[in-house]
Amino acid sequence: MRPVRKWVHTDATIVPPINEFYNPYQDAKPDLERNIDGYCSYCERPATDDAVHVEHIQPKGLPQYVAIQYSWSNFLLACARCNGADNKSNNDVVFGTVHLPNLNNTAISVFYGEGGFVQVNTGLHNQELANAEALINLVGLDKRPGHLNHLSKDKRWDRRREVWEIAKRNLDKYDHHLIDEHTVLELARGYGFWSVWYSVFRNAIDVKRLLVSNFRGTEPNCFDANFNPINRNPGHATDTV
Ligand SMILES: [Zn+2]
Repeated sequence: MRPVRKWVHTDATIVPPINEFYNPYQDAKPDLERNIDGYCSYCERPATDDAVHVEHIQPKGLPQYVAIQYSWSNFLLACARCNGADNKSNNDVVFGTVHLPNLNNTAISVFYGEGGFVQVNTGLHNQELANAEALINLVGLDKRPGHLNHLSKDKRWDRRREVWEIAKRNLDKYDHHLIDEHTVLELARGYGFWSVWYSVFRNAIDVKRLLVSNFRGTEPNCFDANFNPINRNPGHATDTV
């Protein structure tokens, strides 16, 4: 899952500046897309057909978070499925118990395998493993036919599988010098699912460089000089995941 650097409203380098509060909260969507790009922050589908909305990290439907329902700092973008009643919805989000793409290097939390298959990074340990699992469970990212709570209307797995196959076909073209990294970037931006492209092109440093630098808001601190993920959280220089 693509880690992102959320802007802070006090940052004078952001022009035009962002607000501390947005009321109605839906008004924050253009600034969110300007900051973290137009994709679901969780499943990474593109924000086409108005399918992605302003997402409250700590849900506005819980009384303890009503006071921050208009706060920029509580916003990400999410599709109706990730934030649906079958997934995130009004489930509580307690910081420190669940990885989040604006707080943790979620490029490490989730492993994307052949066919777009998603699972927790089993190389994690203890609390970090638990927090990564909590993220996947929060948004139901690993749901697919056979999963206990998968609903047939949840097509994220299928779209991820399709895009994985598209990415693989284009990896073959890339390896044969039929397309270059800029074409791969255009395809990735159009189809979405950043992590699928990042995973399929794991050995193509020029592609990974563009994926990190050309999807707005991707946190560069989360990657090393070869654009591999490292144990560093968004917005920090030295923290571990
Ligand atoms: Zn989503």
